[in-house]
Amino acid sequence: MDALVIHAPGDLRVEQIDTPDLLPHQLQVRVRAGGICGSDLHYFQHGGFGTVRIKEPMVLGHEVAGSIEDVGAAAQGFAVGERIAISPSRPCGLCRFCQLGQQNHCLDMRYYGSAMRMPHVQGAFRQRIVCETSQAHKLADHVSDGEGSMAEPLSVALHAVNRAGPLLGKRVLVTGCGPIGALVVIAARRAGATQIVVTDMASQPLRAAMKVGADQAINIVEQPDALGAFSADKGQFDVHFEASGNARALLSGFDVLRPRGVLMLVGLGGDITLPMNTIVAKEFDVRGAFRFHAEFAVAVELLNKRLVDVKPLISATLPYRDAGRAFALAADRSQAMKVLLSFD
Ligand code: ZN
Repeated sequence: MDALVIHAPGDLRVEQIDTPDLLPHQLQVRVRAGGICGSDLHYFQHGGFGTVRIKEPMVLGHEVAGSIEDVGAAAQGFAVGERIAISPSRPCGLCRFCQLGQQNHCLDMRYYGSAMRMPHVQGAFRQRIVCETSQAHKLADHVSDGEGSMAEPLSVALHAVNRAGPLLGKRVLVTGCGPIGALVVIAARRAGATQIVVTDMASQPLRAAMKVGADQAINIVEQPDALGAFSADKGQFDVHFEASGNARALLSGFDVLRPRGVLMLVGLGGDITLPMNTIVAKEFDVRGAFRFHAEFAVAVELLNKRLVDVKPLISATLPYRDAGRAFALAADRSQAMKVLLSFD
């Protein structure tokens, strides 16, 4: 079968790889759709991020959906032809953090398409994949394969909302409106946020965020002072979700987040200097959110029950053989939100 293999920055190839053997408790899945994530883009553009670097060829991709092609002899509850979203989260189940229900901190995580460990964990941008039944989440007929592949980034947003604590009646700022920021808008709204303001440097992502339910969009290039309206009385927002990874966006929240507000860091950025005195004086809670685990099932249920609509965030679907074009499009924030690959 074909797979999309990254060798070095800019060197992404369609290559033949073997279909793995199907073990008794596993499912063989014909991958149909895969979403290009920021981390896939980082591997493609820079060979990695932070200290994580590609040291050997690696199949990219961790946001996929497809249809079951074969069911292992001991795999219960699944049938050939059923459509599923696949969770790329594969914790060991045994370590201290798995036992605590904090599987995203598993000491032996094998997350698809990640160069965090050696040998790298191969990814899911391939025509066929074998997964555990615990990774498989059935999609309702009305949920497309492309929407199903959005369950993964939606899970990231749901996890960030869980980390933020109760949002019922809260006023929320989201800086950075790429796919994750826009999905945080959706997740925060479902969680009961009554006001959601989004900021970005580009107008296209802001339009997408408005389509999925943001109340107000601020283009910080065109309206650099607009956020200042929320600085009255030590700040109007209860929670600031930072999804851009950009220092200026992160710092823009400091004047508008109220005392004892929650600063949720969702985007991975570089090392950013923070004004400690403000954090202390306003008693901010600074929290990180990394990946997800249990939220994947919630994401699929929200999609299946039509409680969220991610369609406005899917900007293009290209065949995997055009991966170079698809990755270039995904990197162009003036044109693209989520770019999907089709593996049909
Ligand atoms: Zn573990």
